Amino acid sequence: MYPQTHVFFAEKVFGFISDALALGSIFPDIAGGVCPRRQDSHGRGAELLAASRDDEDLFNFARGVITHGTDPKGIDYYGDEKYLSFEKGYCFEKGRTLVEETIQACHLPPEMGWWKAHNIIEMGIELRIGSQSPYGEILSKTFANVRLIEKICKQAGRFYRQDPAVFFQRVRNFANYIDTSRVSARSLAACYDVQMFTRHRLHIDVDRVARLILKAAEIVSEDFNEFLHYALRDVQKTFAHLKALPTATE
Ligand SMILES: [Zn+2]
Repeated sequence: MYPQTHVFFAEKVFGFISDALALGSIFPDIAGGVCPRRQDSHGRGAELLAASRDDEDLFNFARGVITHGTDPKGIDYYGDEKYLSFEKGYCFEKGRTLVEETIQACHLPPEMGWWKAHNIIEMGIELRIGSQSPYGEILSKTFANVRLIEKICKQAGRFYRQDPAVFFQRVRNFANYIDTSRVSARSLAACYDVQMFTRHRLHIDVDRVARLILKAAEIVSEDFNEFLHYALRDVQKTFAHLKALPTATE
């Protein structure tokens, strides 16, 4: 999923949002730049939580990380890996009908089509969530909280046995790499062009991709709420099991 969707989902899970929770909710994609194995970036949330219970910021950060990851199952598990009885996750399933158009609009080799069509679906979801609500502003505020970012990078450095400065730099880069505006199909497509160039040295047809993102938002409108409630129920069960749901005082 895209960043504003992650912040939105973390807020849904806990009924509140804070800078630490927001930063945690996007952190697996930041850690992915430091630890290339997905199991490291998206699959160690429970361990991180266990190492973070003594400090409120670090605890909320770790809770945010779990809402995002794949093990324990966070929203990326249901979006990417497995949803209901489908072959893969929700975003791959919804992306099936967009594969051909995605190959054309993003100038892709055919074997990358399904993967990138799932990104288009994710951007359709990001558009639904981020065009109406202040999740981009919440992220901008979080990225300005340098004291918290330093504290969290110290913890990430300890946890992954890396120099905290590497994480600090990654957070900075990530802030410039994502769309924190009240998103539009056009702003998401323009940002995707930069991401595709950075990652694959490819330029996309921005207007065509913007139209595809609008189509994706339409495609998910029929059952996104169902998906959201399914994932929410399961993730809240996971937090109950981990004894990490909010207490009455939070
Ligand atoms: Zn992710």
